[in-house]
Amino acid sequence: MRWKPDIKKLKSTLSVIFIIFVVLIVICLAMWVKMSDIIDKQLEEHVNQQAVTVSRVVNNSLNDELRLLSDATAFVDPADGSMDMFFADEEGVTYGVLSINGEAACGKALSIQEYDGIFDALHGKASVSCSGDSVLFAVPVYRGTNVKYVLYKLYESSALAKKIDLSCYGDGGEFVITDIDRNIILRTENSRIEASFFADAENEKAMAVISEKMNTRSTAASRAKGSYGDNILFAAETDYHSLYIIGYVDTDKVAGIISLMIPLVLWCFGLLWVLLVIVIIYLISAEKKAKESDEFRQAKLIAEKANQAKSDFLANMSHEIRTPINAVIGMNEMILRECEDKNVLDYATNIESASRNLLAIINDILDFSKIESGKMEIYENSYLLSELIQDVISMVEMRVKKKGLLFEVSVEESLPRELYGDDIRIRQIMINLLSNAVKYTPKGSVRFIVSGVADATDDSIMLRIAVEDTGIGIRPEEIRALFSGFQRLDLEKNRNIEGTGLGLAITHNLATLMDGRIEVSSVYGEGSVFTAYLKQKIVDDTPIGKLADDTQAGKGTEYKYEQILTAPDAKILVVDDNEMNLLVVRKLLHNTQIQITEAMGGAQALELMRQNRYDVIFLDHMMPDMDGIETLKLSKTMEDNQSKDAPIIALTANAISGMREMYLSEGFDDYISKPINGRLLEEKLAKYLPQDIISFRQYVAEAETVPPEAGELIDFARGLKYCADNVEMYAEIIKMFCNSHDAKYDELEKLYEKKDWNKYTISIHALKSNALNIGAGKLAEKCLELENAGKKIRAEEEVPDQTAFIESNHNLTMQLYSETIKAAEEYLGGANKG
Ligand code: ADP
Repeated sequence: MRWKPDIKKLKSTLSVIFIIFVVLIVICLAMWVKMSDIIDKQLEEHVNQQAVTVSRVVNNSLNDELRLLSDATAFVDPADGSMDMFFADEEGVTYGVLSINGEAACGKALSIQEYDGIFDALHGKASVSCSGDSVLFAVPVYRGTNVKYVLYKLYESSALAKKIDLSCYGDGGEFVITDIDRNIILRTENSRIEASFFADAENEKAMAVISEKMNTRSTAASRAKGSYGDNILFAAETDYHSLYIIGYVDTDKVAGIISLMIPLVLWCFGLLWVLLVIVIIYLISAEKKAKESDEFRQAKLIAEKANQAKSDFLANMSHEIRTPINAVIGMNEMILRECEDKNVLDYATNIESASRNLLAIINDILDFSKIESGKMEIYENSYLLSELIQDVISMVEMRVKKKGLLFEVSVEESLPRELYGDDIRIRQIMINLLSNAVKYTPKGSVRFIVSGVADATDDSIMLRIAVEDTGIGIRPEEIRALFSGFQRLDLEKNRNIEGTGLGLAITHNLATLMDGRIEVSSVYGEGSVFTAYLKQKIVDDTPIGKLADDTQAGKGTEYKYEQILTAPDAKILVVDDNEMNLLVVRKLLHNTQIQITEAMGGAQALELMRQNRYDVIFLDHMMPDMDGIETLKLSKTMEDNQSKDAPIIALTANAISGMREMYLSEGFDDYISKPINGRLLEEKLAKYLPQDIISFRQYVAEAETVPPEAGELIDFARGLKYCADNVEMYAEIIKMFCNSHDAKYDELEKLYEKKDWNKYTISIHALKSNALNIGAGKLAEKCLELENAGKKIRAEEEVPDQTAFIESNHNLTMQLYSETIKAAEEYLGGANKG
């Protein structure tokens, strides 16, 4: 934003500056005048002192002359006033003796009117006087106590001038001796002082000042800047009233450093002025900045408000759009179900996939706006890493296969089994990265690698989730834009690939919210690696083991089952409301010869415990009437419980609430997650059964089963694996899956009609578990989505959205359920024939 000057403010600032400027100039001038005055006074005082000194020197010279003359009076003849040879005239000097009547006793007669010094001498006082160009020194000659003669010495001015030093201040000044009328009597030959000197107007003015001052003092000085230059004129009286000293000193010579004072002061003022200008400029710019930052702050506020409004708008829109989309999906669902026209069914299938995409986009936008408005929160809980990874794999596997890509999974065996964090968001990160890898890889492979580095200091692990692909890759210059919202790269190539450009922004933000980060490396045209680093707390550091093998089952890798124990005397109780689970356990343990009692609910289980002593109890968590935890608690308090000491192991198919800590704190001894892994089940039994009734069998390699081709809806190989490779058992499980269909279907429909989301969630959870058991990944995936939605409703989170989600997905899931049954029946038909 550009700063616009405020003209009014600028004008007032400028006038303030102008006023300050004028005031400063006035102060400066006043100071200048005052300073000049002070300096002048100082200089004049200084020169005045000089005048005192000069007058003293001149007086000394004159007095010396008089003294010598007085001493010489002894050589004047007392009888006739004639002089001795001693008084030889020199050039410009004549001696003479006057008698008291004024006549010359010796030498030239002089007029007493011309030289008033004769008068003084006659009265006994040695004196100096002048007339025209001559200066007369006259002393009385006593005879006894009376003055008898006057001895005089008459100098021509030029002769006397040579005897008296008329310079002062070196070459910086000079003076002359004048009479009272300023007629020059003594001056050096080259002196600048002559009659015209006093005629100069400035000098005359200065002399007038000096005369004025000399009314009260014997010396005075005054500055004059006339045609003779800048001088300080001075005058001093001598001891002889007819003689005066008048001179001048060059101001510069006297002033010396003092004369620098004024420029110095002016400099200081100049500096002050510059400083003031700087301060004013600074203040103006500070004000400008303050104004700018004010404006920026306001602009930022407006932008933030606009952004918030945008986020709200997006959130509302997404919400509003979801409802009609759900209606579209629902109606379309009816068409899919009821219509038999192949063309229409094709259209409806297209509508179905398009509306699903639209819904996914809306969900992304909703997530993104949640992140933008800071409302995205991280909910942490314990979760089983293997369940999380398996869920993700089963959700992505289909898509990878459909595209004909190779899917490789590598999960570090030593990773801890159970972690604490937001598994739902981690799942979202994994799925986003994997979906992108699939989307942007036309051929080759996608690798999913999960590893980690544990940190013993705080019982945590830095999970490293890497997704590698051999896809189109990303140009180095575009990598930076990857994580900003709504950014799609390489549009030419990606024109036909659907996307909003939000996935990575959401992924990146989720990782950041979890204090993690995402790194990308890519070679354009060769492939990319996206790696998420997420720190998670360790709940149970038991290694998860060969999970990679499990997942490889989906790829059609061959696998073996090892049976390790038999215990014909062991008695166990298995409690599950789901018949299929009971069947799975029964079948899995068939060869162990363990005696298995089954219960379909908590109440029945308690009754059985009262009657029998079991060595181990497997207790399902999620059951409709009395859940596993309640049953466990009652069993602990039940007095006539014969199986009080039996270890109780929880059975859970709950990916999110697979909370080992929770189960242990509720009183369970251990837990097993579903779909139940045969080997793990036996391992648990080996651990909890009394050791004396178990015997271990060596592994005997059985003929390797070649797993059947994976169907679109059921991955038979995977299902078979869950049945410990037992084809018969698998057939039985599938049969049960088919047989239970009608009842389960009705139950789900009824709960759905009643909108009893609580029971619906439990029921759909059971269906998920059954679907997993037979390897029906697609159905399990749908059930998981519905289950998660149901759980959110239970937790009162996003209730309308999640309800809408169930409403638009229920029918489809039921349809998928029926189709899966059809596929299962086909398998059974084939198996029977085989
Ligand atoms: P979109 O919905 O477009 O997939 P994303 O935020 O997930 O949005 O990804 C942003 C852009 O990053 C994509 O449009 C694509 O150009 C690029 N991109 C993401 N993942 C990959 C990948 N694995 N390989 C190549 N390009 C990718």
